[in-house]
Amino acid sequence: MSRLAQTHGLSDVQQEIVSTVRDFVDKEIIPVATELEHRDEYPQAIVDGLKELGLFGLMIPEEYGGLGESLLTYALCVEEIARGWMSVSGIINTHFIVAYMLKQHGTREQRDHFLPRMAAGDVRGAFSMSEPALGSDVSAISSKAVKDGDEYVLTGQKMWLTNGGTSSLVAVLVRSDEGHPEGTAPHRSMTTFLVEKEPGFGEVRPGLTIPGKIDKMGYKGVDTTELIMDGLRVPADRVLGGVTGRGFYQMMDGVEVGRVNVAARGCGVAQRAFELGVRYAQQRSTFGKPIAQHQAIQFKLAEMATKVEAAHAMMVNAARKKDSGQRNDLEAGMAKYLASEYCKEVVEDAFRIHGGYGFSKEYEIERLYREAPMLLIGEGTAEIQKMIIGRRLLEEYRFQG
Ligand SMILES: Cc1cc2nc3c(=O)[nH]c(=O)nc-3n(C[C@H](O)[C@H](O)[C@H](O)COP(=O)(O)OP(=O)(O)OC[C@H]3O[C@@H](n4cnc5c(N)ncnc54)[C@H](O)[C@@H]3O)c2cc1C
Repeated sequence: MSRLAQTHGLSDVQQEIVSTVRDFVDKEIIPVATELEHRDEYPQAIVDGLKELGLFGLMIPEEYGGLGESLLTYALCVEEIARGWMSVSGIINTHFIVAYMLKQHGTREQRDHFLPRMAAGDVRGAFSMSEPALGSDVSAISSKAVKDGDEYVLTGQKMWLTNGGTSSLVAVLVRSDEGHPEGTAPHRSMTTFLVEKEPGFGEVRPGLTIPGKIDKMGYKGVDTTELIMDGLRVPADRVLGGVTGRGFYQMMDGVEVGRVNVAARGCGVAQRAFELGVRYAQQRSTFGKPIAQHQAIQFKLAEMATKVEAAHAMMVNAARKKDSGQRNDLEAGMAKYLASEYCKEVVEDAFRIHGGYGFSKEYEIERLYREAPMLLIGEGTAEIQKMIIGRRLLEEYRFQG
């Protein structure tokens, strides 16, 4: 057990779950992650193992066959998994967001239909807001749904779907005109549709095409795709929550817990980078002594470890706030912002400690160096986090003059 990033006040059950996941990561993920990543290969055996551990149902209520655990337990598991390989945490994350949105906003029928199979990992979720022309500015979504009898007809192009190919359920945010006349505020005219499809690529359902995997600099193994809707017919009972016009709020709720998850990923990757850096610093000698004995390198290690501790504490605080039933957008935004920036910095320092070898694909830090930047972008960029944090601070500290 590492000295850093301890979490106090966990129940026995939480401790057991997190330590089981940590063992799994050490035995089943770390030894194969870099090789699979270099081949951009989907980690099927790892996913099967996570399914067996019940990870796909970790936060799904027990009545639907899940483990009914808290956001904190979930985030600590994600931290462990990302320590092993960030892509694997990505496979779980969008599934988790969709399951959370169903639990919070789904109709009884939708929950009964999807959640038991999601808890078992048999139905896996992706969520889709971004389009080729927008990511931060969700209000500019141009994909459309038009009512036609008991169905909606969806048209438009979506971008950057994590698990777009491997999922069988996609929560898609589109603009719906029905009941929302011209001039309605953009966020009031958006609807989330629950789109079922076959996993795979090409035309996976009439009117729905997943063209192929986007080739990325890192975050490999997990598939990231576009999604094209061309006259895709979706029954009205697959509107999330049964009422149109609520999609924006439902997605923002999902993204808020997703931000704690991305913060947890940043913590996990930073921890691994620190482990690699502190080990290498004691193995490599220059000028007659291990580089760890040079004060400049010790200072680096000190800074890295302090960042690992700080990010973990903020992530845990944001998760606990949500678990207590309170609004946590401020804490989640801060945790996501800080953990992703610190992650990038800790990874860069570990890379520098490795000297030239850090540039070689033989060393794990090379993979981490390509993975960390994704956390600066996913679930909202640093600028978007700072906008959220700034607005919330002005609400809290309103000048009463
Ligand atoms: C690997 C990967 C996986 C992803 N997975 C998903 C997914 O599963 N589902 C999904 O819906 N999306 C996904 N995304 C998309 C992701 O959420 C967006 O890329 C992200 O929100 C940023 O949007 P953008 O790329 O359009 O950048 P833009 O919004 O175009 O921003 C470009 C730059 O401008 C800055 N900027 C934008 N607006 C402002 C402003 N008002 N003030 C100051 N600066 C601003 C941004 O911070 C950024 O630096 C994924 C992206 C990646 C790379």
